[in-house]
This record gives sequence, structure tokens and C-alpha cells, in this order.
Amino acid sequence: MSNQNKLMDKIVSLAKRRGFIFQSSEIYGGINSCYDYGPLGIELKRNIKEAWWRAMVIEREDIEGLDAAILMHPRVWEASGHVENFTDPMVDCRNCKARFREDDLNPDKPGQCPRCGTKEALTEARQFNLMFKTFMGPVEEQANVIFMRPETAQGIYVNAFNVMQASRQKVPFGIAQIGKAFRNEITPGNFIFRMREFEQMEMQFFVKPGEDDKWFEYWMEQRMQWQLSLGLRKSKLRFHEHGPDELAHYAKKAFDIEYEFPFGWNEFEGIHNRTDYDLGRHAEYSGKDLRYFDQDENRKYIPYIIETSAGCDRTLLTCLVDAYDEETVEGETRVVLHLSPKIAPIKAGIFPLVKRDGMPEIGLKLRDELKKQFKVFYDESGAIGRRYRRMDEAGTPFGITIDSQTLEDQTVTIRERDSMQQTRVALDKVADFIAEKMDGFVRE
Ligand code: ATP
Repeated sequence: MSNQNKLMDKIVSLAKRRGFIFQSSEIYGGINSCYDYGPLGIELKRNIKEAWWRAMVIEREDIEGLDAAILMHPRVWEASGHVENFTDPMVDCRNCKARFREDDLNPDKPGQCPRCGTKEALTEARQFNLMFKTFMGPVEEQANVIFMRPETAQGIYVNAFNVMQASRQKVPFGIAQIGKAFRNEITPGNFIFRMREFEQMEMQFFVKPGEDDKWFEYWMEQRMQWQLSLGLRKSKLRFHEHGPDELAHYAKKAFDIEYEFPFGWNEFEGIHNRTDYDLGRHAEYSGKDLRYFDQDENRKYIPYIIETSAGCDRTLLTCLVDAYDEETVEGETRVVLHLSPKIAPIKAGIFPLVKRDGMPEIGLKLRDELKKQFKVFYDESGAIGRRYRRMDEAGTPFGITIDSQTLEDQTVTIRERDSMQQTRVALDKVADFIAEKMDGFVRE
């Protein structure tokens, strides 16, 4: 096995062992490409979403939030082009009945099934739609078919004018949303990189036609800066521009932000110039006038849309992969997640050195104080070295130890995860110490 695959295996195993991510329905053998977030995973995910919401909504006057339903009118997906275009070419094996994506087949062995090896067993390619279908209401017939949304964006488009009027926004302005999306991916894999149920963090920015290129540049820059603010290493990130054969049916221009995963450079966020395609199509299919009246210019037009679309799970995987490290310390391997304090699931571990002399009481009091601001973890059992190592693996940036000196002068030791440096800090200054380190993390 290559070192790169080993690295993914180690991350998957750490994620399970420490309660970041579990296979869905594991006791039944699991269900392919669906995952559950455990206690540490959900904290990490919440922190990523919170950082995104903060940057995209709270700190901006020109973006509003939205939470649209997953199930939408079926016409939405005709208008959006998903019924027609959201497909992958598939072939089936007539012998073993396995199904493959055409682009995954070996071009040197045409017609041969990669699974059972039978020659001339593969059917012609057929288009397979990636949307999950279900029925609304008690009657399972064609008229009642609805889709699980494959992207959150459409909920934003159909609400664009509701939001604009309710919030009195004017073009240029944006709508942001975090929510689940579903794709019946044919070749899921690489852990949570490609799932069938996942979460997206999408923002659609409505601009005047002609100003779209300028806004596209602006959002490329903003989104890269945001990804860096999560503490990712700059050398592992790059932009990739979509060539003409990669561009989606709606896009005039598209750039991916890519990360160098152990399995190669891959997208985890896309910035797209969707032109007036979406609102134009919804106007056509709904029969509603979706033109914007520009008061300054005294004319109506369909706004262009610049979209920033990040996968929440994929961003989380990027953070985990980037943070994972093994170091040799005093002859032993130390596994450590160098997560930025801003997104780390637990901000501090609190450790009385021994379970007597009043140390646990001081520790519990400190825990109760700190938990008003931060997610912290109290642990009084086992050797201190082991307690530190458990926190290193969980990505906890600070270890606070109460020792005999605490009893004399009311100070504690704060051990920093990455440098392992220890500093003595007064008990009543611990919260400030942690708060100060929350932003501005740069990975060494
Ligand atoms: P890919 O080429 O990897 O299938 P895409 O180009 O279809 O991705 P978009 O439709 O642009 O992706 O979706 C935007 C973001 O949503 C992606 O950058 C990714 O982070 C996330 N995403 C898309 N599909 C999945 C999936 N199956 N599992 C997890 N995240 C996904």
C-alpha cells in the first residue's frame, strides 16, 4: 500500500477511534458513502459552519441568510437543467450485473467487465441521473415524483425576490445558505470526500450584468482567504480553472479551490459565474417576471449570479488531512491534529496532576468557568503524559494542568499542543489566554 493510502487509512481510523466520524448504520454492515459525525466531529463541523456563517452573513451588510426546504416543486429541477443534464454515462455488466461509470473503465479492454472479467459483457452507455427520487403523498406514481435536492442553490434562486423585498436589499447583494444535499453518486469514495448525503455552504451573489467579471474576481479572492483562515497550509491550496469541456451547462466561468489530498489535487469549493441562466430559466418555467428593477438606471434586467459553493464535509476532511501529523518525541510517536484553535472541537483539556490536595476541586471550578465560553474537557485519570496525548489526537490546542504550585500561587501550566511549550498563567487569566489565541493561527 502506498504511503498516501496509508495516510488516508490512518485518518479514517483516528476519525472512528476518537469519535469524529462513523460509518452510517455500522452495526448492519454500513451503508455506502453515508457517514455520521460523532462527538468531536460534530463540534468540528459546527465550528466550520459557524466560521462560514460569520464571514458570509454576520460580518456583511450585503448578504442575507436563508434556510430553504430540501423538497421542492419538481418543476424547479426541470428549470435548473438537473432533470436533463445532471447525469453520468453508465454501463452495466450483462453477466454479474455490476454498474460502472463509463469514464472509470479501462480503455485498453473495451467491453470487458472490470469486476468479473467477462469479455464483451458491457452494455452501451446510458445516462444515469444523479438525483434521488421519492414520492410525495401516499400514491407512488409518476405524477407524485419529487427529488431530494442535489444542491442548495435552487432554494436561493426561487426565494431571491422574497429575500430582496423582505430585507430591502439592492443589487449587488447575496443570499447564503447551509444545508443538506443528496447525490446518487455512482463512484463514491475516499471517505467523506464523495458522499451521497452531504452538506453544502453556498452563497449566491446577484450582480448587474457587466459587473459579473469584477465580482467573480472579488469572490475568488475572498473565498481563498477564508479557506486560509481555517489554518490550512497555503502550499497545499491552489486554483484550478475549468476548461471549456469541464464547464457546467450554466457556467460562463468557473474556478475550483483545490487541495492536495493524499489521493491527488481535488476540488473542495467552486466559484462559478452562472450568468442569468438560473433566474432566466425560473422566469421561463414559472411564468413570473424575475427581472430586477434597477432604480439608478431606471431599467429592468435579470441579475447575473456569482456562486460560491463549498462542501461542508469536504472542507472538514481537508482540515483533518491538513492537520494530521505524526512526530517522534522522546522515542515515541505522537499523533497530533494541528487544527486551528478557532475550529478545534475542544479548546482546552483541564488536568489536575493528582486526584487529591484539592486539585480536582480547582480543576472543576476552572472547567465551570471556561465552559461559559469554550468547549473544554476535564480529565483527572491516568498519567499526565497520556492525558496530553489524547488531547493532541483530538486537536485540542491547550492543556491546562493544576499542580502543587497552583495551591501556593493560583497559577496553572498551559501546554500548547503544537510547540509543547509550557507557560504559567494565573487562574483568572486562563480564559483571556485562550481567547487571544483563537484567531491568527498559522501552521508552522
Ligand atoms: P465533483 O466534481 O467532485 O463531483 P462538483 O463539481 O459536482 O464536484 P459542485 O456541484 O460544484 O461539485 O458542488 C460544490 C461543492 O459541494 C464541491 O466543491 C464539494 O465540496 C461539495 N460536494 C459536491 N458533491 C459532493 C459529494 N458527493 N460529497 C461531498 N461533497 C460534495
